[in-house]
Amino acid sequence: MSRKKRVLITGGAGFLGSHLCARLMKEGYQVICMDNLITGEKANIAHLLKNPNFQFIRHDVSKYIDVDGPVDYILHFASPASPIDYQLYPIQTLKVGSLGTHNSLGVARAKKAKFLLASTSEIYGDPLVNPQKEDYWGNVNCIGPRGVYDEAKRFAEALTLAYHRTHKIDTRIARIFNTYGEKMRKDDGRAIPNLITQALKNKPLTVYGNGKQTRSFCYIDDMVEGIYRLMLSGVNEPVNLGNPSEKTILQLAKKIIKLSKSRSKIIHRPLPVDDPKVRCPDIKKAKKELGWSPKISLEQGLKSTIEWFKSTS
Ligand code: UDP
Repeated sequence: MSRKKRVLITGGAGFLGSHLCARLMKEGYQVICMDNLITGEKANIAHLLKNPNFQFIRHDVSKYIDVDGPVDYILHFASPASPIDYQLYPIQTLKVGSLGTHNSLGVARAKKAKFLLASTSEIYGDPLVNPQKEDYWGNVNCIGPRGVYDEAKRFAEALTLAYHRTHKIDTRIARIFNTYGEKMRKDDGRAIPNLITQALKNKPLTVYGNGKQTRSFCYIDDMVEGIYRLMLSGVNEPVNLGNPSEKTILQLAKKIIKLSKSRSKIIHRPLPVDDPKVRCPDIKKAKKELGWSPKISLEQGLKSTIEWFKSTS
């Protein structure tokens, strides 16, 4: 009998990582979830801990990674990912994007595993073209407060492709745009958890700046499907994954008030430094290469997310 395929997921107790752990278990993989729990939470994977095909290792992947036995895939998702978190942990963010990616690629090389990097739309910075295509080089302030995340991920992409070209590692790079849904931390500071938490308490919704900046929000189930398809594909270079339906933050706030039947008002707060003015993925490559596009509308996704926030508050 052939053995089950084994996957190492770094950052496996985080928002995206924990959904991926669950999906891969469902697909019949053995999952090793590695996380130092600085922004991830054990509660996200509590339901998987008793399963013999699941193993949790508490470890900081910026330090040497030791894994016994064969590994077929590495999904490198470890990193603080919300602007609040990566500004709280700037050095850890730079280390996990650089040293953590180096160590994870080292495991891929030693185990002859396929390697998927969780990259980000942040590598486009405050983009001067909209929507963003994979061949756009971006507009990043390397010394600004967001630079710690943007540059770490840009370095991680460069290192991943260097390992592909030099050591023939079979790589994937997912450029992940804003994603939301169940298991986001309520206090992670991102727009959707903040605004839903405020709406459910009938407190004012804090819209930063004039709220005309745009984002494109992808529901978690769609994102997990895209990442899984990318993992199984043969595309070595970056692919944008996100929902191309672009909204202003003001539109988002109004929608959340309506869907949560809240009595909240909207108040404005200063726009954070270097907050991108627009962001929207061009997903032609994902459509062509992976046959993937998001299926869940913002309204549907927000409804489920609001229900989850209600049930866990
Ligand atoms: N934002 C906001 N109010 C909040 C949190 C965020 O208006 O309470 C804005 C933020 O300035 C940005 C957008 O919402 O323009 C998305 O922010 P988020 O932190 O979710 O992630 P980003 O896309 O900036 O990485």
